[in-house]
Amino acid sequence: MKFVQSGCCNYLCTPQNEEVVDHLAPFRIPFVGLKPGQHDFRMEVDSLFFESFPSSETDQITGEAEVTIDKLGSKMDCIVRFNGAAILPCDRCLGDVQIPLSFDERLVVQLGESTNTEEEIWTLGPECHELNLSQPIFEWMHLHLPSRRLHASEDQCDPAMTAYLNGGGTASDDPDGSSDDGGSDENDGIDPRWNALKDLK
Ligand SMILES: [Zn+2]
Repeated sequence: MKFVQSGCCNYLCTPQNEEVVDHLAPFRIPFVGLKPGQHDFRMEVDSLFFESFPSSETDQITGEAEVTIDKLGSKMDCIVRFNGAAILPCDRCLGDVQIPLSFDERLVVQLGESTNTEEEIWTLGPECHELNLSQPIFEWMHLHLPSRRLHASEDQCDPAMTAYLNGGGTASDDPDGSSDDGGSDENDGIDPRWNALKDLK
């Protein structure tokens, strides 16, 4: 079931092979043929996954979902464990910051008279032969993105952007103030806090 990305030019090079461009195929489980009991699947998320979700906040999430489906009668219990990372703009400097993204989620699916995937427990009607997990995995990934996205420390932020956002013009080369002539005769690079200290004298 593992989907392997075959290259950057799928659309251009292999027009006859529709399987190659069906990035969501690994996320569809043909449950009709599944025997009762547990079944394990692996699904990889990369930027190609998001081609099917053009309104996504980001396509910079990569990772792997391990899916266990426990089929019992007309019910399927789906446990999804996702491990990966997202690259998002840092709230402080707007530069790329990689944020770990892991979650465990569960979806209960029952077979019934008609399809309804709006409720917490999904019902699949007789016309359904596959369980498509791409939409719930897409939603869970966004649900579990942290609301604060920051580089681990300010030192890792883009210094030019940090200086710009702080209104200082240029970044200081000597942020801990260890040099002796701390900006006494350079006007351009002076941290505004130095001027504030001078005024206190
Ligand atoms: Zn940053």
